[in-house]
Amino acid sequence: MDPRHGQPLPLIALAYSSFASGLILGYAGYAAAATIGAFVLVAIASVFRRLERAALGLVFIGGAMLALTSTAPKRHSFKARQSDSTSGPLDRARDRASRSIDDLFGSDAPMARALLIADQHGIPPEMRDRYARAGMVHMLSISGLHVAIVASAVMLLLEAARVRRSHASIIGVSITGFYVVVIGAPAPAVRSAVMLAMVAASRGVQRPTSPWAGLAVGALVPLVVPATVLDLGYQLSVAGIAGLIASGMLARRTLATRLEGFRLKIGKELLTSIVATLVTAPLIAWYFGRISVIAPIANLFAGPVIAVLQPTLFAALALAPVPIAGRFFADAAHPMLVAFDFIATAAAGVPGGSVSVIPSIVTVVAGAGVVTGLVAACMSRYPVRPVVAAAACLCVMAWAPAVPLPYRGGVEMHVLDVGQGDAILFRTDRGNWVVFDAGRIWRTGDAGRSTIIPYIRSRGGRVEAFVLSHAHADHVGGAESVIRSLRPRVFWDSAFPQGSGVYEQTLLAARETGVTWRRVHAGDETQIDGMGIAFLAPDSAWTAVLDDPNEASTVALVTYGSSRFLMVGDAERDEEAWLNEHSKTELRADVLKVGHHGSSTSSTDPFLAAVNPALAVISVGADNTYGHPSMDVLAALSRLGTRTARTDIAGTIVVHSDGRKLTMEAGGERWDISR
Ligand SMILES: [Zn+2]
Ligand SMILES: [Zn+2]
Repeated sequence: MDPRHGQPLPLIALAYSSFASGLILGYAGYAAAATIGAFVLVAIASVFRRLERAALGLVFIGGAMLALTSTAPKRHSFKARQSDSTSGPLDRARDRASRSIDDLFGSDAPMARALLIADQHGIPPEMRDRYARAGMVHMLSISGLHVAIVASAVMLLLEAARVRRSHASIIGVSITGFYVVVIGAPAPAVRSAVMLAMVAASRGVQRPTSPWAGLAVGALVPLVVPATVLDLGYQLSVAGIAGLIASGMLARRTLATRLEGFRLKIGKELLTSIVATLVTAPLIAWYFGRISVIAPIANLFAGPVIAVLQPTLFAALALAPVPIAGRFFADAAHPMLVAFDFIATAAAGVPGGSVSVIPSIVTVVAGAGVVTGLVAACMSRYPVRPVVAAAACLCVMAWAPAVPLPYRGGVEMHVLDVGQGDAILFRTDRGNWVVFDAGRIWRTGDAGRSTIIPYIRSRGGRVEAFVLSHAHADHVGGAESVIRSLRPRVFWDSAFPQGSGVYEQTLLAARETGVTWRRVHAGDETQIDGMGIAFLAPDSAWTAVLDDPNEASTVALVTYGSSRFLMVGDAERDEEAWLNEHSKTELRADVLKVGHHGSSTSSTDPFLAAVNPALAVISVGADNTYGHPSMDVLAALSRLGTRTARTDIAGTIVVHSDGRKLTMEAGGERWDISR
């Protein structure tokens, strides 16, 4: 049956164990001796022209060197993570695993958590972006791939121990199942385990099954937990496996007849890596705004590392009850984690290695069409038709950006519902965007990533400018994500000195991405696609004596035709008084973004009288602890005859202007608010 059975271990298994033993020996402090021994072996092998042996020796040295050159992870005691409303046994298992990982891996814990239990909370956005640039982000987000690696490592070990193939399958599947349960059964892992079990079962009963059937059964997870469909890890894992199957079939048809030995192996790996990159490209482009060109090469290097790293991580976790053993493996994993990250950093640093894209829904769907065509072409004996279909989709992708999206024209103000915080987008009459503030940040994400970026991506158009009112976390929170992913042409900032880390990260992001940073001065004006933006505050003489960032808020008047929108950030009564004194005539507006979420410290009567808005929008979180908006402010607005709209009640609010007439939409209803 299997030609390998009873034969010497296949080369790949030998290379694998050489690397692992080099690494472990090196880590145990025998690296120097091991390296010298290996060099002697390589020398002898080359004299006798045993290239294979020489290569194995080199792989061994590689492992030892890697261990030598890296230091042990810093270990400091972690506070037990708070378990968020855990109920089921699976949640508890995951929690326990998470705590073991924190104990075992020290400073490596965030990465180990991502790789072992598909928990990405500890991975900072810049790191995720680095992996997206390198085309390795699927390795961070899928534990499906990682389950398969663990399973094949177990099988290799059993094979090396000459366990009968049928027994090895059963043991392998059981251990894999155990692993999936221990890590709390995340969807991609379940998918992978189900698929492996099916393949093993079909071998057991000697009925060959199509790998597609395995994929289809494994992909049924959403039938049980529907929300899984939206899980990026799950999506990547299903797409990735489809690519794997397709590239396997293509390799059998094309490479296997032409190459052999090492060349065949490397050819296959490269082909797999290219096909997997292509197949997952639309998903990565959609979620991360990147297409990685360097990905196939990065994956070629990262593949072997993760193949050793993953079983080592698993061994550490499985042996956690015996701390000495667990820590030994956790320490041994450290150099590999360093190497893994090194590959990502190096690949991300290659100039032109990745392209930043802002795909629209049309281009992404067309991209998925291209990918489906390619997969079909890989598998088909007659690839012409699917290739033609793929080419047609490619044409759609190429031309779609030139066809304007159905957009009714005029200027729109989108007051996004981001809870307690501000995120207000202006859409120009050409469908481009100016973003005012970016909402909050929290431990596992920010409003940029969760709300603003998807909102803009799903509508198309580019971001012309980002305007930050002030550096409080409910305004600057999502700014870093917005800048990194949407790359505004210019970043306007009141630049009031702040010590906040989030703000500094944002400035750093602007510098790293080459986004032009401009300091706002009262009196600055700019035009974007026929929409005017005039900055009325802050004035540098005014901010010099301030200590409250709210009072140094950027104040901007956005105009289109005769429509006027006043944006005041969190400006309070002092800044309002300053405005009344210095630019009273310019304050009149149809729409006012009410200052400081409707707090009673803002919206003084003289200021409201000067603005005299038809509509006042209040961006505020439901049941917020600040008591915003204040009853006094609401009463003052109603005395003026101003209509108010609140995001905590209406959700996202859109105001449309054709240059003269104003309408407001919220919750599926529309009002005329012109006066
Ligand atoms: Zn605020
Ligand atoms: Zn504030």
